[in-house]
Amino acid sequence: MSLAELIGQPVALRILEAALQGGKISSAYLFYGPPGVGKRFAAMGFAQLLLCQSPRGLRPCGDCPACRLLQAGTHPDLLVLEPSGGMLRVDEVRALQEALALKPLQGRRKVALLKEAHTMNPQAANAFLKTLEEPPGESTLILCTPRAAELPATIRSRCTPVPFRPLREQHTMALLEERYQGPELRLLARLCMGRPGLALRENPLLARQKALQALGSMGQPGKAPWADHQELQEFLDILGLLLRDALVLKLTSEQALLINQDLAGPLAKMAKRATEKGIIECYQRISALKAELVFNLNRNILFNYIGSLLREFELEVSACN
Ligand SMILES: [Zn+2]
Repeated sequence: MSLAELIGQPVALRILEAALQGGKISSAYLFYGPPGVGKRFAAMGFAQLLLCQSPRGLRPCGDCPACRLLQAGTHPDLLVLEPSGGMLRVDEVRALQEALALKPLQGRRKVALLKEAHTMNPQAANAFLKTLEEPPGESTLILCTPRAAELPATIRSRCTPVPFRPLREQHTMALLEERYQGPELRLLARLCMGRPGLALRENPLLARQKALQALGSMGQPGKAPWADHQELQEFLDILGLLLRDALVLKLTSEQALLINQDLAGPLAKMAKRATEKGIIECYQRISALKAELVFNLNRNILFNYIGSLLREFELEVSACN
């Protein structure tokens, strides 16, 4: 794992490279951007460069005691905090503070990586703020999150922001090539919308199949099929893409422009039934719902609401199933 291998994130790379070359390492960084675009990969690569005893540019030497401990996952000065039960808790933050207060065991620096930093509950965030206000000696904190807006502004403002963006299609395809080939590769690259990590974790066609099943069952009143926030988010993303494709067909009839290329037939039927204005309005309402997701909306009410929305604009997607 090396920061030099980070693909398609020129802005993030420039910020980190400048810090490393100038020797001006901030006490805290906020790696933010959508899931599956390389934040954690970059955080581990950056941490390794901070701990390696003789890095060469953006590549760690791979041979010093620090590199060997990192490869074994046992470096005592790399502290990794991740949510348990969907939350980063105050006692975990306090334990991190205590560990950071001790001198580094191996080199001159300690590095703490906080995954899903937005899951800190208010007590944890308060405790963490103290660490940011008075950072212990030679330590660097790296916060990773796809939902930076949910972190308190007092925390965000004390971190050097490092933005990550969805990748271009050619970069996404390059990363997916090791797992997928042929027409499936192109379809998946389009479906994951520049977030290859999502397609490497799970084939996006499975999530889409689930979403299509949910859409198919929307005619009847019933319980929401989403187990958690993540699934609901995925569902709304997929529905947005289907609506986007229906609009493309309505406006251009060009199947080559579709994201869901393999659903051209059913999407054409959908486009034929609905009006241009209806597709746009429905898309806007679904986008508005996504923005509201930070609030804990009741999933069953949402399920019925989306069903009625699709009926209102004659956009029932059951034909895609
Ligand atoms: Zn090294």
